[in-house]
Amino acid sequence: MSEKTIFKKIIDKEIPANIVHEDDLCLAFHDVSPQAPTHVLVIPKQEITSLATLTDADQAVAGHMLLVIKKIAEELGLDDGYRVVTNIGSDGGQSVFHLHFHLLGGRALSWPPG
Ligand code: AMP
Repeated sequence: MSEKTIFKKIIDKEIPANIVHEDDLCLAFHDVSPQAPTHVLVIPKQEITSLATLTDADQAVAGHMLLVIKKIAEELGLDDGYRVVTNIGSDGGQSVFHLHFHLLGGRALSWPPG
């Protein structure tokens, strides 16, 4: 059995996180190294490596996370807009191999990303 990712340890409450939302399917918490005034990560409780490994069986959790992101953005008052990003693999810049959506807001974000 491979070692737990840092996000699995957060799900299992082995390490702390500043949690903003939790339900049966997913968990959302503030990023420890925020890249914007609001930087929240939304992750499935199920161990899924990345968007690239989602299967048809994950349709409910995938859709649920998007709706949770929308609700968190509303609750955090990101009325001027925000960005949702998921990094996949080495070219995508993924560093934690447990699917996560970055919710970034609170400032104007440049485009394209680096
Ligand atoms: P990525 O590079 O897309 O895989 O994003 C991983 C994100 O996880 C980075 O933005 C990190 O700052 C964040 N991160 C790593 N460890 C923790 C932690 N213990 N609590 C909260 N965020 C974390």
